[in-house]
Amino acid sequence: MVKTHNELGRELELFDTYEEAGAGHIFWKPRGYKVYSNLMKWIEFEHKKRGYKVIRTPMIFRSHLWEKSGHKQMYGDMMYLFEIKKQDLKEEWGIKPMNCPAHIILYKSERRSEKSLPLKFFELGFVHRHELSGVLNGLLRVRSFMQDDAHIFVKKDQIAKEISNVIDFIEYVFELFDLKDRKFYLSTMPEKHLGDAETWRLVEKEMDKALRSRKVNYEIAEGEGAFYGPKIDVEVKDNLGRYWQLSTVQLDFNLPERFDVNYYDGEGKKHRVYLIHRAVLGSLERFIGVLLEHYEGKLPLLFSPYQIAVLPIVNTEPSLVEYAKEIKRNIERSTNLLVEVDVWDQDKTLNKKIREAERKKYTYILVVGEKELRNKEVNVRGKGNIKIEQLYAEIEKEIRKWYNY
Ligand code: ZN
Repeated sequence: MVKTHNELGRELELFDTYEEAGAGHIFWKPRGYKVYSNLMKWIEFEHKKRGYKVIRTPMIFRSHLWEKSGHKQMYGDMMYLFEIKKQDLKEEWGIKPMNCPAHIILYKSERRSEKSLPLKFFELGFVHRHELSGVLNGLLRVRSFMQDDAHIFVKKDQIAKEISNVIDFIEYVFELFDLKDRKFYLSTMPEKHLGDAETWRLVEKEMDKALRSRKVNYEIAEGEGAFYGPKIDVEVKDNLGRYWQLSTVQLDFNLPERFDVNYYDGEGKKHRVYLIHRAVLGSLERFIGVLLEHYEGKLPLLFSPYQIAVLPIVNTEPSLVEYAKEIKRNIERSTNLLVEVDVWDQDKTLNKKIREAERKKYTYILVVGEKELRNKEVNVRGKGNIKIEQLYAEIEKEIRKWYNY
């Protein structure tokens, strides 16, 4: 029986929701937060590698920003709006449902020259959207979540290349996670739209070309683009055969107009900027939900909530305990991994401890006895004995696979 991410989340003690914050607002328990924070670290690294500038913007803004961006008119029902009363001040504020306006504020805080483009702002931005309770589902659909969100400010002739780069980025990430069952959707110009039709068609053609040249599985959703621009969405299948949208790349003709976003050429002439919204993982909550199901709870070492367990055959034998601790020190000194030495109830038999470690789906369960100590080996559950140096090399190789400079 295939388990859902909710069942796995309970068994592995990763996350839950509580009445005080209500459904859709996740509490990450220590083991779950390990997954979450390691994923944040890694995806930030991947963005820096590609020239994104990492920023952080506030959670709440005055309502007039959301009126100016149009979010209040369009997504008002889903927004958390509230009044702040202080002394004689009384104002409406809103928690951000999206990061875009904040990134535009930072872009506009300086005069941007042609040479400064493309400018790519990246934020692990935490957003709130009050989804209807009927559609909420564990981590897959929530009310507050972390986006690996970026906004790319470009000139017209840079649009195609930047979109192509984002598709490469998405493909790179999904390949690493072995998420093979993915589908790209290209949504084209609807009847009611902003921006000139010529640019729409040009960008659609470039998007189409980019998808075709990569031989990805994709469909064209004719006329189903947002009114503000063409987009590519990427969906991945879960264990129950449902597709969930993760990545998105969208060109936006709207916000640069609304916020009067420009750049200046060599002669000091002002030009309207083009804006690309994009997310690779999408929502980290949803991404982790998909990963848990995809890997049946046994995530890749770097993101695993339970990474390495070392069990001495006899925990009263000082030389064995010391050997286990030495392995822990050697791995933790050079990596960010957590190595746990015999953390179970001391009265349990070795077999019971191993079974418990297996239930928690530790990536590595290492057993060490007299023979292993003598030969500088470890017994890896499911693999047999290997030299300790070989284990270190294996772990290093796995880290390099993800942190590939
Ligand atoms: Zn955006």
